[in-house]
Amino acid sequence: MADVLVLNAGYEPLHRVSVKHAITMLVREVAVVEESVDGMSFGPYPLPRVLRLVRYVAMRWLYRGGRPTVTKDGVKRRDGACAYCGGPAQTVDHVVPRSRGGDSSWLNLVAACRACNHRKANRTPLEAGMPLRLTPRIPTPEHGMVRRRPRARPLAA
Ligand SMILES: [Zn+2]
Repeated sequence: MADVLVLNAGYEPLHRVSVKHAITMLVREVAVVEESVDGMSFGPYPLPRVLRLVRYVAMRWLYRGGRPTVTKDGVKRRDGACAYCGGPAQTVDHVVPRSRGGDSSWLNLVAACRACNHRKANRTPLEAGMPLRLTPRIPTPEHGMVRRRPRARPLAA
């Protein structure tokens, strides 16, 4: 099967992904289909040819390093609350379960409370009927997880 072109939210081409990866992006609702292959579908989705990201991705975080390491604490800090019910989050959930090919990246992990994590189990949010309240993103300096350059020391008075 042919690759799928991914466009940024502003329609700039970013990269190409496999159809499987493209479908996980649709499941996670991080992208929408811009162009599909006529008359072909993949499960409930039209077979995508071009996807567009729902939110703008700043390229510098994706491609120029500076991407913070994924940690459970980091995911909880980024999301602040359970991504499914908004309650206090004690755990981290794989949006697309690992058993279904989901990876442990910033874009596939969300904070979750134990109850939601248990209820969702090995299902996607769509299958579980548990829509995400947020779009998983790679943290930016605003999340306090990326080390900025140290400030110049003030001159001694
Ligand atoms: Zn919850």
